[in-house]
Amino acid sequence: TEKPTALIMIFGATGDLANRKLFPSLYNLFEKGKLDRFAVVGVARRALSNEEFQLKVKESVKENGETDPKADLDEFVSKFYYHSHDVTDSSSYLALGKLSEELDSHYGLNGNRIFYLAMAPEFFGTIAEHLKKDKLTDVSGFKRLVIEKPFGHDLESAKVLNKQIRTAFTEDEIYRIDHYLGKEMVQNIEVIRFANAMFEPLWNNRYISNIQVTSSETLGVEERGRYYEKSGALRDMVQNHMLQMVSLLAMEPPIKLTTDEIRSEKVRVFRALRPIKDGEVNEYFVRGQYDKGVMNEKEVPAYRQEEMVDPESNTETFVAGKLMIDNFRWAGVPFYIRTGKRMKAKSTKIVIQFKDIPMDLYYQPEKTVNPNLLVIHIQPEEGITLHLNAKKSGQGDATPVKLNYANKGIDGLNTPEAYEKLLYDSLRGDATNFTHWDEVALSWSFVDNISKVWENTKEPSFPNYASGSMGPDAADKLLEQDGFFWWPFN
Ligand code: NAD
Repeated sequence: TEKPTALIMIFGATGDLANRKLFPSLYNLFEKGKLDRFAVVGVARRALSNEEFQLKVKESVKENGETDPKADLDEFVSKFYYHSHDVTDSSSYLALGKLSEELDSHYGLNGNRIFYLAMAPEFFGTIAEHLKKDKLTDVSGFKRLVIEKPFGHDLESAKVLNKQIRTAFTEDEIYRIDHYLGKEMVQNIEVIRFANAMFEPLWNNRYISNIQVTSSETLGVEERGRYYEKSGALRDMVQNHMLQMVSLLAMEPPIKLTTDEIRSEKVRVFRALRPIKDGEVNEYFVRGQYDKGVMNEKEVPAYRQEEMVDPESNTETFVAGKLMIDNFRWAGVPFYIRTGKRMKAKSTKIVIQFKDIPMDLYYQPEKTVNPNLLVIHIQPEEGITLHLNAKKSGQGDATPVKLNYANKGIDGLNTPEAYEKLLYDSLRGDATNFTHWDEVALSWSFVDNISKVWENTKEPSFPNYASGSMGPDAADKLLEQDGFFWWPFN
């Protein structure tokens, strides 16, 4: 395949995301020889010279990069330029356009542009409209918009934002980032399912009893209190990352592994997702908010005591839910999801629990044969574990055994960071691992039903889980009432 050539414009170039993820990822691509000709324009509010900016980029690569920066770091940063920008001022865009043209001819960039919006989402629409109006999108090559989360706050605001960015870019040119979709193991769900004769025939309601997706964080809200108060775990995690993982687990095999085919199968999952009616929210979903607690032998405060958080806050920092996908494949199989802050462990993993065998020949009182589990570890470790029953030598009965495949341990490779993959995909024009508008719209309309009810009813039990726990008791009850339990971390 041809190596990509483009001018990459990063809006929000002095921000946290650019420094921690984007610059180091670009450097990795450069260092691996995956980029052809390129240049980067950093765009942000404050005044910086090109030299000051290049120094910052260098620091960012040294501090956050995965590999030891080599001597070519100087060559890398020499391609970085800076533009001090006001997002509402046309003359600032015109200057940026002029700089882009100059760099394009200097580096021979074929008129290709990537516009990466790594700044507060309230600016996304304005920037896109200006890019069009001030003619930065009038290019001879390709133009692509890479846009960070959150994509709106609910369906209505997402529609408004989408309309704004669609004035300047077609759906094909819009790359909505969901950094979970950049993770190697999330992409691997597809391979596990569709490249193994052992799994696909069993991947349905005849053989699977339930699926559990957990994404837990140990951090609290940190400095994001102001944003998080208006968001909460449902909007911040469920609408995008959790539902994306569910759609990859549940989709039908695509007829080809192309962007359009995969996306349209994912969209069909969202369409089959059973909508939750007002009166049913508490039957299907549980919300939690962290209380104080002890983590790593240190006292940590309750959510309501965090900076910029209302002392009576009704915002959820934890969500557990039961999703039903009403189609032939999944009728009757619950997909349980849970995600939260200040939980016991930082981990994302998927447990596929297979149904019990028809009859247990190894029955002993107090001892039943364990169900088969396929565990997909997304982070921090990446890999799969298959839980089987086998006879261990010297023992008479069925004993649980685990087959492990760890991406890191066995291959000895550093899995590339999500952003590196996503940046590379956007440069190559592969939108498979980005979210299509139809997915965004359907997942918001699912989530909106729940958030409307939660916003209008104050949860009297808040705070209802201790920091360092696995969430409120109600999240366990959600599974218990169906005869299941959350498989513990192991
Ligand atoms: P940040 O606050 O650290 O950076 C914001 C950037 O925007 C700065 O470079 C600032 O100069 C620029 N900016 C702000 N107002 C401006 C204006 N009026 N004109 C021009 N420039 C202006 O934010 P961040 O953490 O880097 O996040 C950026 C985006 O990425 C957000 O949408 C966020 O949700 C998303 N995101 C961030 C992370 C992360 O790890 N930080 C992870 C996932 C998604």
